[in-house]
Amino acid sequence: MSSLIPDDELVSRFAGHQLDHDSAAHYRGRLERRLLISRCRECATWHHPPMPVCPACWSSDVEPTEVAGTGTIYLAVFLHQGPPAPGVDYTTPYPVATVELDEQPGLRFTSTVVGAANDDIAIGRRVSLDWIDRAGAPLPVFRLDGAAR
Ligand code: ZN
Repeated sequence: MSSLIPDDELVSRFAGHQLDHDSAAHYRGRLERRLLISRCRECATWHHPPMPVCPACWSSDVEPTEVAGTGTIYLAVFLHQGPPAPGVDYTTPYPVATVELDEQPGLRFTSTVVGAANDDIAIGRRVSLDWIDRAGAPLPVFRLDGAAR
């Protein structure tokens, strides 16, 4: 992994996130705007969130691996209220989308969708990964395919 930053700096960059030994590599990837998902080197199964062993074969040889960032909206909810967070506007309301990544059926990553009206954010829509800055750190988000930037 390139550009290793100290653990304490990583934690401070992602204040409020659940950082631990298993997820540290994922968050280091975010600083480089790379979406790293754990993949087993024994059986090639992906899993998220990061765990110390592969859920398919129990191998501990799991490696954070960059995904393409393309996928399909599996679930979308719209938050009318929630904890105050920088860049989050609940009056719109705020979309939260779980995206099934193309790498593997059932491999899902949850974030928000930007650049789209809530009415257009629907289950089954194709999306692609993009990055925004939030609270001083890159945040992986999704944009609808075919939407204007
Ligand atoms: Zn495995």
